Amino acid sequence: GFVGNFKTSVRSEGKDYALEHGTIILASGGEEYKPTEYLYGKHEQVLTQMELEQQLTDHSLKAEELKNVVMIQCVGSRNADRPYCSRMCCSQAIKNALRVKEVNPEANIYIFYRDIRTYGFKEDFYREARDKGIIFIRYDEDQEPQVRDKDGKLAMEVFDPLLMQNLVIEPDLLVLSVGIVPSAGREELAKMLKVPLNGDGFFLEAHVKLRPVEFSTDGVFLCGLAHSPKPISENISQAQAAAAKAAIILSKKLIASGGCVAGIDKE
Ligand code: SF4
Repeated sequence: GFVGNFKTSVRSEGKDYALEHGTIILASGGEEYKPTEYLYGKHEQVLTQMELEQQLTDHSLKAEELKNVVMIQCVGSRNADRPYCSRMCCSQAIKNALRVKEVNPEANIYIFYRDIRTYGFKEDFYREARDKGIIFIRYDEDQEPQVRDKDGKLAMEVFDPLLMQNLVIEPDLLVLSVGIVPSAGREELAKMLKVPLNGDGFFLEAHVKLRPVEFSTDGVFLCGLAHSPKPISENISQAQAAAAKAAIILSKKLIASGGCVAGIDKE
């Protein structure tokens, strides 16, 4: 279709529905990176931040019994395969670390990071975490932490570039701060709507400053993690902007769409 006159068929629960609509907002989301590193999936005490959050919420994790908790930042991010920063895993780690500290102030919580990117007001949580005794230790990209299974328990070794020596920790919980990856099916969607993807696999807007929620295809807009990893507050602002842009088209009674035609100047 084209602006003001799109036709889409949607299959839901085995039934096909035909929809006619004037605009499209592409909000196909993103996914949590499923790690292959640090014994994830092989040892039950290795979780992602989302899994930790879930277990803290439904109380399936007994945070009051934890002694040593280790979090590793930038897992599967900022490397040759995924060079971008997911922008929210630092804040998520600090938020979860503070939640564990709240339940169990005696727990030792170590966050191994390459850079802490709690930008904006989230920097306050970083300060609070330091005040409450959460320990931040930098690790070098070329000397990532080593984790092994030592008779069923986790054992970890990491080089501290400030102390210039190896640290050895036996965590009873290892939490991986994994990034966000583009959603499956994005290439099919991009072909269908004739819109571009960037080098990281996220959808690319028409112009980063002048048309941040539009594509160059008229009537197709974008928002959310389909565009790039970002926190919920920014996703909401972007969704509102996309909805406002779509409403401009939908509020018109008539849309004139004309093509360019070649003309011949006889002289
Ligand atoms: S937000 Fe933090 S943990 Fe996530 S990729 Fe960026 S620097 Fe790494």
